[in-house]
Amino acid sequence: MLYISTRGQTRPHNFSEAVEVGLATDGGLFLPEKLPSIADKLAGWEALSYPQLAAEFLTLFAPEIPNAEWHSLTRQAYSHFDSPDVAPLKKITDKTYVLELWHGPTLAFKDFALQLLGLLYKRQVKLKGKKLAVLGATSGDTGSAAIHGCMGQDGIQIFILYPNGRVAPLQERQMACTGAANVFAMPVPGTFDDAQRVVKECFGDQAFVSAVNLSAVNSINIARVLAQCVYYIWAWLKLPEEARATVEFVVPTGNFGNVMAGWLCQQMGLPCGGFRVATNQNDILHRFFSTGEYKQGDVNPSHAPSMDIQAASNFERYLYYMLGGDQRLVRETMVRMKSGDRVTLPHASSSFRSSRMDDETIPKVISQMWQDWQYVIDPHTACAFTDMAKDRVSVVLSTASPAKFPEVVQAATGSEPTHPSLELLKSKPLQTYPLEATSEAVKAFLRAHA
Ligand SMILES: *Cc1c(COP(=O)(O)O)cnc(C)c1O
Repeated sequence: MLYISTRGQTRPHNFSEAVEVGLATDGGLFLPEKLPSIADKLAGWEALSYPQLAAEFLTLFAPEIPNAEWHSLTRQAYSHFDSPDVAPLKKITDKTYVLELWHGPTLAFKDFALQLLGLLYKRQVKLKGKKLAVLGATSGDTGSAAIHGCMGQDGIQIFILYPNGRVAPLQERQMACTGAANVFAMPVPGTFDDAQRVVKECFGDQAFVSAVNLSAVNSINIARVLAQCVYYIWAWLKLPEEARATVEFVVPTGNFGNVMAGWLCQQMGLPCGGFRVATNQNDILHRFFSTGEYKQGDVNPSHAPSMDIQAASNFERYLYYMLGGDQRLVRETMVRMKSGDRVTLPHASSSFRSSRMDDETIPKVISQMWQDWQYVIDPHTACAFTDMAKDRVSVVLSTASPAKFPEVVQAATGSEPTHPSLELLKSKPLQTYPLEATSEAVKAFLRAHA
């Protein structure tokens, strides 16, 4: 199985190479050259545990890693989840289920991909006998999940930049209180965009990249999308048979990575009804799916910060399929999107619906869900609970634990949500490495520590 770039100007890579470099050198995103069919495999997967299902699925995409090794990798990756189901599917009503994706170490769905990615990095380090320095910028969830995927792994050091004072206090603690010697949580002045720019500049220096063997952790790695496919199949297999063919997956969306994984499953033959892209007030994707027009605006901070984006980085993968795999057209369209042009695209797929939720509505929905069903949800998940399909079953993907957002949730339900792992963090010392927001400062720091 080979991986091609959406922009067509990078040679095809195998899975391990595509995972290691993350972004293609032509600026594009990796996709499997051809999608395997899973339609005839579903019946045989029915009785598997979550890690077993993940191993069988991932073997289709990276046969160069032996199936037995995949089983060992996924068993380890999901051993730190606090639910035996890993991704439990909770029934709320006959028509509504919630897929809880927050039983991993950092209590958000990003653990599904990043627990595995940490182990894949470790495998590469062992194969090549060369230490790896992982560098990324975060506005919260990706950084903490990446740190928890890499901490304590031999041969790996992880450096995460974040905007000082602009990540949630608990998210900062998840990054800065691990006590692991290979973890560096680095607050920098400014916004997430400043942190991101510094990281990009570091990767622009080829000599530096090879000197410290630098690898990027970000939201566009193909391993992340593939790892996320597994829980769509898992949820589908757990549904009553009569609900499966029409089920609508409702996905709180920011960078389009999560819902992209679900859509790929459908392209591979998972017979489901479709998807609803649920946005907050930063609704570029809702506007796209309701009008066909993609136009970037300004970001307005919301109660659901992990969905506060203005350019959905994984959208380029969907664009590739919408444009019929024409890589020249992808390149041209991306240039127009980046420049802030209004871009109108063919409405290729009827698989998607979309919705948007105002910031004022989020606490009201949390409160209503609590009153009606005694079920507590976080502000990201809340964005899903609008415009529910009436004629079929919905599976809402719950992307974070309510305990990660105690203020909003307490105000809405009257009691503070807690989680033992977060309570433990509150008493641990914070270890951060504050730096200036310049690539010189970051490079000097990495040279000294990597
Ligand atoms: C990252 C994140 C999202 C958005 O996921 P995308 O893949 O970017 O669409 C939603 N909710 C939470 C809690 C997240 O951490």
